[in-house]
Amino acid sequence: MRTVTDVRADFPVLRRKVDTGQIIYLDNAATTLKPASVIDAVAGYYSEVSANIHRGKHILSEEASEEYERVRAQVAAHLGVAPRNIVFTTNTTAGLNLVASGLPVRPDDVVGMPVDSHHSAQLPWRSRCRIAWIDAGDGQMRGDDFVRVLDRRPAVMVFTACSNVTGHCADLERLVPMAQRAGAYTVVDAAQFAPHRPLRVLPEMDAVAFSAHKMLGPTGIGVLYLSDRLIDAMNVPPMLGGGTVDWVVDTEFRIRRAPYRFEPGTPNIGGVYGLGAALRYLDGIGAEALRDHDERMLKAALSEAEARPYLTVLGGYSAENRAAIVSVVVAGVDEPSEIARCLSDSYGVMCRSGFFCSQPYFQRYGHPAAIRIAPYIYNTEEEIGATFRALDSVYHVLRRG
Ligand code: PMP
Repeated sequence: MRTVTDVRADFPVLRRKVDTGQIIYLDNAATTLKPASVIDAVAGYYSEVSANIHRGKHILSEEASEEYERVRAQVAAHLGVAPRNIVFTTNTTAGLNLVASGLPVRPDDVVGMPVDSHHSAQLPWRSRCRIAWIDAGDGQMRGDDFVRVLDRRPAVMVFTACSNVTGHCADLERLVPMAQRAGAYTVVDAAQFAPHRPLRVLPEMDAVAFSAHKMLGPTGIGVLYLSDRLIDAMNVPPMLGGGTVDWVVDTEFRIRRAPYRFEPGTPNIGGVYGLGAALRYLDGIGAEALRDHDERMLKAALSEAEARPYLTVLGGYSAENRAAIVSVVVAGVDEPSEIARCLSDSYGVMCRSGFFCSQPYFQRYGHPAAIRIAPYIYNTEEEIGATFRALDSVYHVLRRG
């Protein structure tokens, strides 16, 4: 079995030194580092293939097309679905927007979602429909509020599989079928879930979106699963062009079958190579080892935070059904971005501050901006300890009074 030390050796950025010495990278909920195998896969596409897909009959184009479709099948197998239901997008945001712009919803339709939804999950719907917010004060959707929203017969229910603020995972196996029974299309934002837990698509899910870059893959490549039912409902793709049609004459054209109808123009082919390599890397680690490590990191961060009266963890201190994403409010410091800057410049600790693209959550529950500590497979308990000790020092310098 591979140790964290073995894993760390695969990530070139971890060899980088800053003025203070080694870096501690804890900004993985924003994006993860990339292992050498992913970097090599992307570079390999550009240095050895470089051709466009699906259009050429020459060796290079055929090779690129084959790998592109092989990775589609690899992703499909990961999710337990058919390749025709897997669309390559640029990221989670693009996938969620594709669904919102492609579904024929009306302005008085209700779309239900938890208050802690990421801006990318909520904004695509806000200008199109009426939003029914579901209370999520302690990081979990409140059951009675969820049922109250279902009673309004929503056209769509948007789920956050794992919150990028609190790390709490939603009970999708219970809630998604309830939403579908109530007549809603079910859309799942899996941007933070996919990196941390095995993501299986349930038959009641209509759309599931995630990004490669949060799970060791390159930026600019994302995955969108679409159910057959949703594909039928979205019969006019929101973006048309090369690659999306079977034939075109001056008076009409025929739209290609899914998934090609949703992939207009030249896609991020190198990104798809990288995504394939990222999934292989994660397979090599194994879901169980990934989860064990994630739980160790979560417990370490929660207990360090709990031991400090000046910190409050958003979403509470329970480690149950939660991924290793820990956001802390720092009492007596008005500007947590200054904390993040000091952690970086004086201690080499890279983490995020602010509202993490979930501003309504902070506003609704009266939380000030926070600091987010988001470990991943290459982080260690020593790094978590060192980060909280650095936080103590920064806090003593920056606190009011
Ligand atoms: N949803 C969640 C829960 C996220 O954490 C993020 C990224 N912070 C997104 C959506 C958007 O992902 P991307 O920026 O890759 O489109």
